[in-house]
Amino acid sequence: MINQDYNFSKYKNSILIIMLFIVGLLFTLSTIWYVKNKMELLKEKQFQQEKIYLKQKLRNLLETKRKAVMSIAVVMSKDITIQEYLEHKRDINIHKLIVDISDSLRKNTDYKNIWLHIIDKNGVSLARSWSNQAGDSIYNIRKDIRDIIKSPHITSRMSVGKFSMTLKSIVPIFDEKGKFIGIVEGISHFNSIIKKLKKDGIESIVLVDKKYNKQLTKNITHTFINDYYVVNFNPPKKILNLVKDKGVKYFINNREYKVFDNYYTFTYPIKDIDGEILGYFIVLENKNKLINKEINEFIDNTIVFSFAVLFGLIVIFIIFYKSRLNIEKQKEYFKKIFDSTKDIIVVTDLNRIIDVNRAFLEFFNIKELDEFNKINKCICDFFEEEEGYVSKEVESQNCIEYIFNHSDIEHKVKIKQNDKIYYFSVKIQKLIENEDGNLYVVVFSDITQIEISRKELRRLSITDALTNIGNREFFNENIEKEINRAKRYKTPLSLLMFDLDFFKKVNDNYGHDVGDIVLQEVSKAVKKVLRNTDIFCRYGGEEFMIIMPETSLNEAIILAERIRKTVENLQIPPVKQITISIGVTELKEDDTIETFIKRVDDSLYQSKENGRNQVTSL
Ligand code: GH3
Ligand code: MG
Ligand code: MG
Repeated sequence: MINQDYNFSKYKNSILIIMLFIVGLLFTLSTIWYVKNKMELLKEKQFQQEKIYLKQKLRNLLETKRKAVMSIAVVMSKDITIQEYLEHKRDINIHKLIVDISDSLRKNTDYKNIWLHIIDKNGVSLARSWSNQAGDSIYNIRKDIRDIIKSPHITSRMSVGKFSMTLKSIVPIFDEKGKFIGIVEGISHFNSIIKKLKKDGIESIVLVDKKYNKQLTKNITHTFINDYYVVNFNPPKKILNLVKDKGVKYFINNREYKVFDNYYTFTYPIKDIDGEILGYFIVLENKNKLINKEINEFIDNTIVFSFAVLFGLIVIFIIFYKSRLNIEKQKEYFKKIFDSTKDIIVVTDLNRIIDVNRAFLEFFNIKELDEFNKINKCICDFFEEEEGYVSKEVESQNCIEYIFNHSDIEHKVKIKQNDKIYYFSVKIQKLIENEDGNLYVVVFSDITQIEISRKELRRLSITDALTNIGNREFFNENIEKEINRAKRYKTPLSLLMFDLDFFKKVNDNYGHDVGDIVLQEVSKAVKKVLRNTDIFCRYGGEEFMIIMPETSLNEAIILAERIRKTVENLQIPPVKQITISIGVTELKEDDTIETFIKRVDDSLYQSKENGRNQVTSL
């Protein structure tokens, strides 16, 4: 309804929509950024955790295996049959014995691939559970065997021999007297560990460092990658090919995990007792399997959160949009009311007109307010000066301001439009008060008809119906006003009174109607002689008064004489001649209305007394 308010709220709305959009955009961008970062962090975390887990798992598996092999070797070192065999070399099939034990372990325990090896006190191999070979000396080949013969003690270590890299537990055998008589060696392979890992979905391959390349003369798997011996039988194709493709170095150069394509790989170095690297345990997992759970949870939570925020934004937007719709409807509603009234309604901030209703546009015969504003500054410019009506500027205030500040009295304005005069009563109310200035609503109600009627009534009430000049009422109003003014501004004021001579006779001789005509003609003739400022009234019957503002006695006498002559020369047939007697006086300082009138009356009386048709001044 109100343009400024409307524009303002429109402006505000646009800001709100832009802000909402920016917030949404920022939210989306920050969510994407956050999700990306968080996902990277989560992945990183997950990978680190997996690394620790794998490290621990491999270490445990190897340790468990080592302990188991050692336990078996220790138990076997106490075996009487073996001891007897070593002491007395009785006819015992030692090879069959250890193969049986090995088979029994395979059948009844988790240790499927434990090899047993019996060596005599000189380092000669007596029986191997995995081979029929026997009788060969390994004293010169293996340092660990030499060490144990020199100083018998239990060792349990990872080592690389000519067959493979294995976990070995070497336990010295003593007779009843504690004499060193031989060695039992338990050997375990990595196959069972690899199988266990496979069950957990982890593929693995065990490589022997290439420095042992030449030592592996009787290697069992016959598989090498870049001179690195592949320890496990039938290594999974996938990992085998990947290691082949990328090269062993790619995997072993960095102990940390690596992520490529869809894979997560981790390399665990296998060391001997002195910390020297023997080989590598390379494991491979599906990357997605690792990241899925936590990251999916995170993504789910983020999605739920984002949707919640988005939903919130949509709800806010809908509420906002609905309220905008309501506001629009309300505006339309008020606009209809605003336009339906015949009163002219103007909204202004005193400097310019901001909004108007249809009645305004129709009154000024324009289509839109801009047309008016282009040419005019204020509606006040149309105000016509007239007593009793507000003018453009009152008490050096803008007329609207003035009317607003004096709202206790009724204000009327006179507006000329298309050469027609209109009268309006004006009411003003403050609409909005804020730091940018106040808005006022000004309502102009058309009172032209009432004003015209009122003016006519007023005119009639102060006009003498016969002569059409001011009546006694009019005289009374004016004499008081003029006396006050003359006294205030110290200007002269004269009063003239005349009475028709022997008027009774006119009536008697020619009738009352002719008498009336005489009165009309005399009035007309006198009026012609008078100045605009003179106030001519019929005081009663055939007595007239002329108030002469800013007129000294002398000037008044001159005018009186002119009037007297004018009447004397009048021709009003059938009346032969009309004369008047005149009294003139000037206002004195201590005069009241009564004394002033009395003196003029006295001077008229003197004119009568002195023979009529003359002027007397007092
Ligand atoms: P004087 O010279 O002394 O004034 O003599 P006069 O006859 O004029 O006497 P006076 O002023 O006393 O008489 C006024 C007469 O004017 C009385 C009355 O009949 C007459 N008159 C007053 N009003 C009217 C009027 O409206 N119409 C007519 N036709 N006669 C009026
Ligand atoms: Mg008379
Ligand atoms: Mg008289």
